[in-house]
Amino acid sequence: MKAIHVPMAGIVNYKKVAEKMAELIQEKGGHILLNHMVESITETADEVVIDTNHGTIKGSFYINCAGLHSDRIAKLANIKTDVRIVPFRGEYYQLKPEKRYLVKNLIYPVPNPNFPFLGVHFTRMIDGTVDVGPNAVLSFKREGYLKTDFSLRDMKDVLYFKGFWKLASQYMKEGVEEMVRSFSKRQFVKSVQKLMPDIQENDLLPGPSGVRAQALKEDGTLVDDFYIVHGNRSIHILNAPSPAATASIEIGKEMIRHLEKFRLVV
Ligand SMILES: Cc1cc2nc3c(=O)[nH]c(=O)nc-3n(C[C@H](O)[C@H](O)[C@H](O)COP(=O)(O)OP(=O)(O)OC[C@H]3O[C@@H](n4cnc5c(N)ncnc54)[C@H](O)[C@@H]3O)c2cc1C
Repeated sequence: MKAIHVPMAGIVNYKKVAEKMAELIQEKGGHILLNHMVESITETADEVVIDTNHGTIKGSFYINCAGLHSDRIAKLANIKTDVRIVPFRGEYYQLKPEKRYLVKNLIYPVPNPNFPFLGVHFTRMIDGTVDVGPNAVLSFKREGYLKTDFSLRDMKDVLYFKGFWKLASQYMKEGVEEMVRSFSKRQFVKSVQKLMPDIQENDLLPGPSGVRAQALKEDGTLVDDFYIVHGNRSIHILNAPSPAATASIEIGKEMIRHLEKFRLVV
């Protein structure tokens, strides 16, 4: 068998999904506080006190789903874990308009079971553009969307973590290959051609990038599933890999079950 055709595979405009969710939350009396950076957390026997850069919020419980910063939020709450978030940037190209006809759906490779990364794939976006990628390279900053982005604090967090060195020694070859693909379009195209031999270097235009919040364990294992720990009055989602956006409603329901199971709702 060379491929599996899944005709019902599709894509949504996730910005619109998020806007609709926000609308429904507000209709039901919820408040959405944007630009409130959590700076400290205190869990007491009766309540939770969260200090942000725009004031203090009190409640009976909270859910930490801070993505690239989820490990730091857990640390603020004195939650002990053996994981660290390591940022991996995924860089994309876009298919030039004249070649978009080649991609009529989503085209994915069979993933390598040793890695929680999908590998280079074709994504036909809602507006008809086609993203090609991503690779997966260590990002020198948690929100490092550009190759030149750098944060000393973020790099120290990676380099002082023994899990990173265990991972690096285990997968040196794969890591170097990804770096090469990041700087050499020719090498990138070679992996694209495994899925679609007709694609040539000049068919690909520079595209966007994203940064994946990858939880890494002290023993060098890349966490490839959800990783959830809880405090007395909190749940901490320390790894939420793709397709966590697609699955967000189900994940939300699961979090409610967690709250009930561990009697966090009082
Ligand atoms: C390149 C790429 C492609 C992907 N493609 C898909 C896909 O096709 N389908 C899919 O389902 N998933 C996809 N994913 C995965 C998906 O984006 C994640 O699984 C999902 O976003 C995780 O959601 P989250 O709410 O846990 O974290 P995030 O979406 O990362 O949200 C974390 C939030 O916490 C906030 N935050 C951080 N620190 C603080 C702080 N101190 N105080 C207050 N707020 C804070 C951030 O501002 C952010 O809003 C992709 C990911 C990447 C990187």
